[in-house]
Amino acid sequence: MTLSLFSLEGRTALITGSSQGIGFALARGLAQAGARVVLNGRDAAKLSKAAETLRGEDLTIEEAVFDVTDSPAVSEGIARIEREIGPIDILVNNAGIQRRAPLHEFDEGDWRDVMETNIDSVFYVSKAVAAHMIPRGKGKIINICSVQSELGRPSVAPYAASKGAIKMLTRGMCIDWGPHGIQVNGIGPGYFKTELTDALVKDETFSGWLTGRTPSRRWGNVEELAGAAIYLASDASSFVNGHILYVDGGITTSL
Ligand code: NAP
Repeated sequence: MTLSLFSLEGRTALITGSSQGIGFALARGLAQAGARVVLNGRDAAKLSKAAETLRGEDLTIEEAVFDVTDSPAVSEGIARIEREIGPIDILVNNAGIQRRAPLHEFDEGDWRDVMETNIDSVFYVSKAVAAHMIPRGKGKIINICSVQSELGRPSVAPYAASKGAIKMLTRGMCIDWGPHGIQVNGIGPGYFKTELTDALVKDETFSGWLTGRTPSRRWGNVEELAGAAIYLASDASSFVNGHILYVDGGITTSL
């Protein structure tokens, strides 16, 4: 009984930006918990390769190629999933990018890329999915936030602004859609080893500072995010709404 609370058997989950990194690890975790998982990304070849890897592990995987910053493409992509694959029970808004430069030198095009990918997309995809979830009276939405939803760092002000915005959008979505039976929560990852953080992992000064600053004294491994996602996607969290769960080795607790 207790463990069945965490089962995702019979559910369909869409995870944006899931051809690599955190999204891919979450896809594997939700699929291992029983969900049929729809992978998403812009690069069809990369997405197929990721899907093949997971199918090779006997997991049930579908693919949906669309750019989350392109609102008409999002509407079309969500409509196709609902029509051809099935009702989306779980949405994970994960696609995101980072651009680093001191704010006074920050390029306007990079600013727009960060905002369009990290925050506009969450509005487009969630609105399109919620239009189907609301009449069904149920649904789970998980927004991938960051420790930078709370804390800044030099040269990443636009990223931190976008992640702070996702935190508040999570609360707003919870307030507007909670009465329709939808739960909207966030996961705030600390520092995890992925392609997005590759340069930081290789930077010994940064890595030494980070591990010294993190109470758990290490980087996170992406597999360590799966438990939080399964919890928030399953019946185990049936009365949890509008919450941000930080999975960060404790970094947000200390100065
Ligand atoms: P990543 O390794 O760079 O992967 C990003 C994924 O998003 C790729 O699959 C990419 O595939 C997809 N993507 C990017 N732009 C897209 C778009 N416009 N439309 C559709 N898909 C798109 O990133 P990550 O490190 O796993 O990060 C994933 C999320 O976690 C992000 O929201 C990030 O901010 C957050 N996060 C990461 C860390 C960390 O330590 N890594 C910490 C806190 C929060 P395509 O290239 O095919 O589009």
